[in-house]
Amino acid sequence: MIAGLVSAPVPLLLQKSFGFGDRLGLATPGHLAAVRQFPDFLPIFAQQSIREMTRTQRTPEEVMTAAQQALDAAGYTGKWGADGDHLKTPEDVQRVARAGFCFFTIDPSAFVNNAADTLDEASLNQEVAALERDGLFTGFDWKDYYLNRVFSVGHKFSPFRFDEETLFRAAVKYARATAHAEVMGKAIAQASAGKGEIEVSVDETDSPTSPLEHLFFALELQRRGVPNLVSLAPRFIGEFEKGIDYKGDLVRFEEQLKVHVAISKFAGPYKISIHSGSDKFSVYPIIGRVCRDLLHVKTAGTSYLEALRVVARVRPALFAEIAAYCRGRFDTDRASYHISTTQAQVAGLPAYESTAQEAVYLDEVAGRQLLHVTFGSVLTVGKDSKGRTFKEGILETLHERADLHSELLERHFAKHLSQLNAG
Ligand SMILES: [Zn+2]
Repeated sequence: MIAGLVSAPVPLLLQKSFGFGDRLGLATPGHLAAVRQFPDFLPIFAQQSIREMTRTQRTPEEVMTAAQQALDAAGYTGKWGADGDHLKTPEDVQRVARAGFCFFTIDPSAFVNNAADTLDEASLNQEVAALERDGLFTGFDWKDYYLNRVFSVGHKFSPFRFDEETLFRAAVKYARATAHAEVMGKAIAQASAGKGEIEVSVDETDSPTSPLEHLFFALELQRRGVPNLVSLAPRFIGEFEKGIDYKGDLVRFEEQLKVHVAISKFAGPYKISIHSGSDKFSVYPIIGRVCRDLLHVKTAGTSYLEALRVVARVRPALFAEIAAYCRGRFDTDRASYHISTTQAQVAGLPAYESTAQEAVYLDEVAGRQLLHVTFGSVLTVGKDSKGRTFKEGILETLHERADLHSELLERHFAKHLSQLNAG
């Protein structure tokens, strides 16, 4: 942490929380204005994944300092957290710990076997044998523990039982991921002198996390002694695409979420963490009502889009150049994202001329996803026709119109937070 700055993040433990990712480092005043209206949420003001830091060429120290400076300037003395998001290796842990982050999100998705749901019996048995051979359950009679036990996760739900097939599929899918979480948990305990709080996230995997798989995953984390586990992010049913509303069956979503929450109380308690949590307005009332205080929500790209909205209004010519650049980058940049917008839809977007096209780019699905996936290119390599970087032009506009930037963010997040409390 940088000397001279007063405001410092702390672990938020099991209090209801909301993560405000800020890729440009200028959004904290607007985030703070919004969360001050909803004091039942504790804010996470510094939150960036290693992938986002790579794409924006920012260091953990820069992310932390941007939040601290804004909070000092605002005289904020309340609690806030700092989330090193989607950490995949012990080196990632050390990088964010050195910068003062104290909420660590372990992402063991590289060790999740997504094929487990569909393997035939012979392949499944082979994979189970490989888990045993590789020592995943050494010293633990895992088949006896899981198969000969009834898990009563709450009086509203019929008790859970594993049969051999469901247990084997859960184990093949997640056992190696829990072992990696144990390794990461030890690195976090060491790097944070035992104080860091931990989330484990498997939200970016191909297949949804069934309640029974969640139970297996959580019990394995418990058995392996992953310390200070405060939240867990399953992959939910339906689609949590970047920057747009939830797509899926709301009734089924609510039914499953209730079971996930019951499991989180049984095997924890820990919070349920909603990743890609921006703009999921149709499910917020459900999420708020079902999770109550055991809730963490993460957002990031949606703040960047509000920054671009400032640019679109204040410097339409600059925004037009950015939008045209993004249309050219889309096919390449979309690769690592979970979105449904197609190249043909993007190619069909009109050129930006004035606020008459603002909604097309900043409120409708194709425009939002286009701007969402191209942020790394825009902020690191994109240049305007005069050869000046887009980033410079964007930051200059945001400094000039800090009032408008803050106002748009406040309104946008007040809408998020009020909908989470609307259930
Ligand atoms: Zn995530």
